[in-house]
Amino acid sequence: MNLLRKARETGRTIDLVIIERKRHLNISDTAGSTALLDGCNCCAGGLSPRMCDILDDMQLDLPEEVIQSRVTSITVQGHWKNVEIAVPPERRMLSVFRGSKPAGRSDRTGSFDAFLLEKAVKDGAVLITGDVHEVGYSDTARPLVHYDTGAEKKTIEADFLVIATGVSHVAAMRNHESDLLGSLQVMIPGFTPPSLRGAIICELRVPEQTLAQMQGEVYFIQYGSADLRLEMCSIIPKTEFVTVVLIGPGIDRIEGHVERFEVVDRFLALPHVRKLLPGPHRLSCTCGPHMVTGVAGTAFADRVAVIGDLATSRLNKDGIYSAYETSRALANTLLTQGTDRLSLRRAYWPGVKAISRDNLFGRVVFLLHRITFSTPFLSRVLYQAIFTERKTKTSPHRRLERILWSIASGDASYRYILRLMLHPSTIWSIAIGGLMVTIRNYLAELLFGLKWRNLGRHTTGVYREQFGSKRRQFINLILQTGLGLPKRRDIEKMYTIKIKAPGDIIFERLGRFGNEDRGYFRPRFVDVRRVRGEPNREGSIIRYSVTPGFLSFNLMLERSTEHQHLVYRVLDGFAQGGVLIFEIEPLGKGKCGLSIYVTFDLSNGTGPLSRFTLSIFRVLFPAFLHDVVWNHSLCQLKDCIENQTCS
Ligand SMILES: Cc1cc2nc3c(=O)[nH]c(=O)nc-3n(C[C@H](O)[C@H](O)[C@H](O)COP(=O)(O)OP(=O)(O)OC[C@H]3O[C@@H](n4cnc5c(N)ncnc54)[C@H](O)[C@@H]3O)c2cc1C
Repeated sequence: MNLLRKARETGRTIDLVIIERKRHLNISDTAGSTALLDGCNCCAGGLSPRMCDILDDMQLDLPEEVIQSRVTSITVQGHWKNVEIAVPPERRMLSVFRGSKPAGRSDRTGSFDAFLLEKAVKDGAVLITGDVHEVGYSDTARPLVHYDTGAEKKTIEADFLVIATGVSHVAAMRNHESDLLGSLQVMIPGFTPPSLRGAIICELRVPEQTLAQMQGEVYFIQYGSADLRLEMCSIIPKTEFVTVVLIGPGIDRIEGHVERFEVVDRFLALPHVRKLLPGPHRLSCTCGPHMVTGVAGTAFADRVAVIGDLATSRLNKDGIYSAYETSRALANTLLTQGTDRLSLRRAYWPGVKAISRDNLFGRVVFLLHRITFSTPFLSRVLYQAIFTERKTKTSPHRRLERILWSIASGDASYRYILRLMLHPSTIWSIAIGGLMVTIRNYLAELLFGLKWRNLGRHTTGVYREQFGSKRRQFINLILQTGLGLPKRRDIEKMYTIKIKAPGDIIFERLGRFGNEDRGYFRPRFVDVRRVRGEPNREGSIIRYSVTPGFLSFNLMLERSTEHQHLVYRVLDGFAQGGVLIFEIEPLGKGKCGLSIYVTFDLSNGTGPLSRFTLSIFRVLFPAFLHDVVWNHSLCQLKDCIENQTCS
């Protein structure tokens, strides 16, 4: 398309013929279409922000039936730590299917590749359905392409030949099932396909409710188990299916369907994966394609060039974008330099090499990423550093989040990402906001007996830029409820977590706050019990019996708005007059945000002894303990509701 459009801009005409082996879809209501193709490319179909920018630049508006999902958040998960990153408002990520598969799709015509081919045909390309099995030069040194349409064998003589077959057939080519690789190596002396790595891709049917609750999300799982070593696996929920891609040392040598099925089963049975995809699921298809990890020996000769995966690809990410980049570099070369070997070496090859050079930085990026997310301690430190950064820095200054976003979305070069990773400010953020806080919080968790076994950590801190507006909402609510605001607001804390459940279920579980069977908020030294009234009923009183006893106090539920708000007031004790609010906010189908707001003044006390004790307590009050306890409790509450783990 680039070639045709750019040629037209410069007043030139090019006859472009595309030979594609995928057959036309045999669907009666699509008879008018030129390019609705069957099959699949064994690709997860994630369109990175940079790829979406390209589509915009080329005015290629994807029709609704092609878009499988609009990604709103990415969650990076390693060793039970979950870091969710919202897709920045100015960026766009989509998912698509590349062909008509998986079988059983109700919208088989919505295919990204078919859409692009249609556009190319509209721009003037000729599309032939056929399998190219051999290439070579004619007597006049022009490329010859031999292809099989199924009905007959044909040959085209061209001025220039572009090979864009991807690598999914390289294994077959190597096994001499096709002459294509051998004949290509004769045409391009020194051509060898790039090095590859095995992957597994599968399409799952999951319960409707699970799929609805996952809409807009993408997960990157960095860790499997000691006997299923994984890295950078992805889970992409789409309209009817969930696409899962597995990569890692545990996948590299898997061969054959039976083994593949067995590995997918083991993946789905991993405890942290079961929490995301609780099942029952049905495997619609599974495949063992290859991912490119290297670069072709040479990718050009006179009047011929290799593009896309068969030349090289971005490591682990964004292969569609890098395939586009190689094709753009080639189109520019052909239009501005020439079709001979020297022109291609001068203008096209550097584009390919730039991708493979950047992959060297990518290797270090992924190594550091993998080590961090597969080590319990390091993943904890990073998780904590991100938590701290989120609460203390505004978006442009959140370096760690930018790094994770760029790695997961493919939105920056690996060289840039590595520079960010190794920058002294990043190391400082990890050391102070991560390591120091982790040590402190770890000791607090030991003190309060908070256990994380089989419990996912989620970042519950509120983004700094959202804190102000949310706080105003809570203050208005306190004023509407007729409660006075604590004068100084010595302590003011806010936490939030996403829970995949409807508001009424969360509300009901919050109603058990003072019950023995609540399943969350059970720190050592604090016994919480409803001593008056009914769950979630205004006027009910919850007693916090704390050791030491002078820290005990009572909370009264002042306002209860069905499935929305619970506003408690502290009746006595060191935080007398303080307020605790639970807020449930719908976030879409079957999903809610649960926020907690706490504010209180540290009391001055009444008698001389209590005044003295409380003044010392005020100086020493470890406000972070609140963060530690509520972070654990919110993660417990989420787990308890989503996975019915409450006892
Ligand atoms: C498991 C997996 C998941 C991936 N997920 C993503 C992702 O989410 N996002 C992303 O950006 N990248 C992803 N990639 C990478 C991406 O799929 C590739 O980088 C990209 O598809 C390369 O494009 P290509 O045009 O070179 O090859 P392909 O997409 O493989 O296209 C090659 C085309 O050539 C046709 N063809 C092949 N041989 C012949 C022949 N002999 N005659 C005629 N036609 C032929 C094929 O039918 C096919 O249509 C993934 C890769 C794998 C393995």
